[in-house]
Amino acid sequence: MILHDFQCEQKHRFEAALPSMHAENPRCPVCESPTRKLMSAIHMGNAADAGPSREQMPHSWQGIGGAHPDAVAHWRKKIEKREKLEEKYPELAGDRRPVLAHEGIFANKPLRAGDDIQKATREALSDQG
Ligand SMILES: [Zn+2]
Repeated sequence: MILHDFQCEQKHRFEAALPSMHAENPRCPVCESPTRKLMSAIHMGNAADAGPSREQMPHSWQGIGGAHPDAVAHWRKKIEKREKLEEKYPELAGDRRPVLAHEGIFANKPLRAGDDIQKATREALSDQG
């Protein structure tokens, strides 16, 4: 059994044990609505919630819902939070060189300024199997 934290649509939080990683989430014991798994405190250790990394943030208009104002505000908040965090913990910032290509074969690992293009292309192609 693995203990997990859950939160329902009504923001009730509770802890429950699941027989496996892939077991279905239990319903909320208070209001019986569907729940989602929260990142467990154990897995997070003492680290603050770093939010999505820059690589995980959308890089295109589609990625931010065709620039829907809500989506833009959502990501702006995330980015600002991330920037504050990176000021405090520079090691989170990772590779800040400009991204030259991030689509197609470079979807998983963007090509950056200064990368050996032939090597990066070879690696990207072999990653695709
Ligand atoms: Zn509930």
